Amino acid sequence: MSAPADAFLEFRDIARTYGHVRAVDGVSAAIAPGEFVALVGASGSGKSTLLKTVNRLVVPDSGSVLLEGTDVSDLAPPVLRRRIGYVFQGIGLFPHMSVGENIAIGPRLAGKRLPDARIAELLELVELDPGVRSRMPDALSGGQRQRVGVARALAGEPHLLLMDEPFGALDPITRDALGERVLRLHERLRLTTVMVTHDMAEALLLASRVLVMDSGAIVADETPRALLDGAGGRIAQDLVAVPREQAKRLAGLSA
Ligand code: ADP
Ligand code: MG
Repeated sequence: MSAPADAFLEFRDIARTYGHVRAVDGVSAAIAPGEFVALVGASGSGKSTLLKTVNRLVVPDSGSVLLEGTDVSDLAPPVLRRRIGYVFQGIGLFPHMSVGENIAIGPRLAGKRLPDARIAELLELVELDPGVRSRMPDALSGGQRQRVGVARALAGEPHLLLMDEPFGALDPITRDALGERVLRLHERLRLTTVMVTHDMAEALLLASRVLVMDSGAIVADETPRALLDGAGGRIAQDLVAVPREQAKRLAGLSA
């Protein structure tokens, strides 16, 4: 299969099984630099497994992942992971480390000390007061903790940002505000972003392209506009119907 010459990230026929479960079942997709891609699908559809093949937290049984043309299996995991910002599913901060230590953990594992000024800069980037650096994670709100998670992912100045259900644990208002913030960061830092979410509304509002997964396969690859216009097939449209129906009911209430 030939790749688009400008692919920043490319999945080539990725498969991964766990026992009898085909978690990822032959996924191919090419992502161009600067895209904000949402990977949407029901729980268990294979989103996290696919995302983790990029930073080699999961090794595929077959197929390959190319990052800027290089097969990720040719890169030592620490070298690879320094080029990728990764926001974990759930909150994922180390509870026994301060906010500053959490942000600096990636560079520290690579034997480098992140300067205090850089930690302050990263906190500012996610619109947190630099004073929170000495706090422990449990002294922050859920939204603040997740912003620390984003700051930590950006510490190594990655060009690729991977996020796995980054806002899943948050209340709707915090979630919305944080989504907008991340989109602005994506644009300002000229990132290429892949965000896993089960929430089609979030995908439609933030992403420039939506990949829909079902039973380990990509069943739709569309822009938000096209999805809203009815493209993508039944599984995609069933997911689009949820926020659409909600919007209708709300419009009905205020009429
Ligand atoms: P999603 O992120 O879309 O919810 P996952 O990629 O986590 O889906 O999981 C896809 C399928 O693979 C599920 O059936 C899940 O139970 C299975 N799976 C994922 N990781 C493992 C694992 N480490 N061991 C066994 N089964 C797994
Ligand atoms: Mg998942």
